[in-house]
Amino acid sequence: MGFAEILGQQSVVGLLQKALSRERLPHAFLFTGMQGVGKLLVALTLSKAVNCEQTVAGDCCDHCLSCRKATSGNHPDISLIESDGSFIKIEQIRSLKRSLRFRPLEGRCRVTVIQNAPNMKAEAANALLKVLEEPPPDNLLILTATESAALIPTIVSRCLHLRFQPLAASDLTAHLTQTHSLPPERARLIAGLAGGSLSRAEELVDEGKIARRHKVLEAVANLHQFKAADLIATAEAWRGGNTDFVQDLEWLKTWTRDLLIYNLKVVAGGDLINSDFDNKIATAAPQFCNQHLIEVFEFLCTAQEAISYNINKRLCLETLLLRLHSLVTTNEDSASYSLPGLGKGIFARTFYE
Ligand SMILES: [Zn+2]
Repeated sequence: MGFAEILGQQSVVGLLQKALSRERLPHAFLFTGMQGVGKLLVALTLSKAVNCEQTVAGDCCDHCLSCRKATSGNHPDISLIESDGSFIKIEQIRSLKRSLRFRPLEGRCRVTVIQNAPNMKAEAANALLKVLEEPPPDNLLILTATESAALIPTIVSRCLHLRFQPLAASDLTAHLTQTHSLPPERARLIAGLAGGSLSRAEELVDEGKIARRHKVLEAVANLHQFKAADLIATAEAWRGGNTDFVQDLEWLKTWTRDLLIYNLKVVAGGDLINSDFDNKIATAAPQFCNQHLIEVFEFLCTAQEAISYNINKRLCLETLLLRLHSLVTTNEDSASYSLPGLGKGIFARTFYE
């Protein structure tokens, strides 16, 4: 695969191809952007193009020996550093430093891609900074990260920073219809739910995930029909089994977002993420004031962050469902309202198992 086959990211790819054509590459790049927008793919394609034996217009030929070795992951001058466990360790950066003492073995340029660079521990980051301060010739470093703020500023300032944008829904829809032969309507729905991420869209091709979303949204859309006591049982059933709780919270976030967007009357045509629930969103949205919806959204974000700290899922769900239920059934005044459990301090006391 060359640059020509990469989905979206035209401005980043165009800039890289220009730099390649003029043989004017910096010694280090930082690629930032949300997960699943092609940072690693572009980094590996750049690694291939830099060493291609028959480069054409700043793109690789994909056929020469160097390109074939790069594609199969066997090019001795192209390496990928990933987390070893939870972190990128100092030993991995030391090993990189040792390899940089020598000239490339076969290609014109040794390329090292450091994926999710913020996973470097402090010592590893400081060791990498020393490399960036005195970059050896014939080497290119490419760091990827979700956001530059997660890296120490001295590393960011020594890299050429390129920002990757979320992929257009139309690009994702076209990809899903072509690659997975999905009907256009389903492809459009998944593209909207993926929020600009190709990897997310690929995950959602799994019918089980979409069915789960349907179940979650049906439950919150019909909250007004529940009695408060039933909600406790619902929370227990919801929490049980092999369900992906983080994913469920993500569905609830898209629901809350859609209600808010609907209330603000900024919705135009297909701007709802859950477009297949448009009628239910139109019914549910007026039952909530916007301030409530913002607070519910914040609650969901906090709950998602707290997952990694052994949050008590059942208690979290009970609180959320009971609160949403009381908002629907009592039309509570927003001025007197505060969702219990907001903030990490409260989570620490209430929700940890
Ligand atoms: Zn080639």
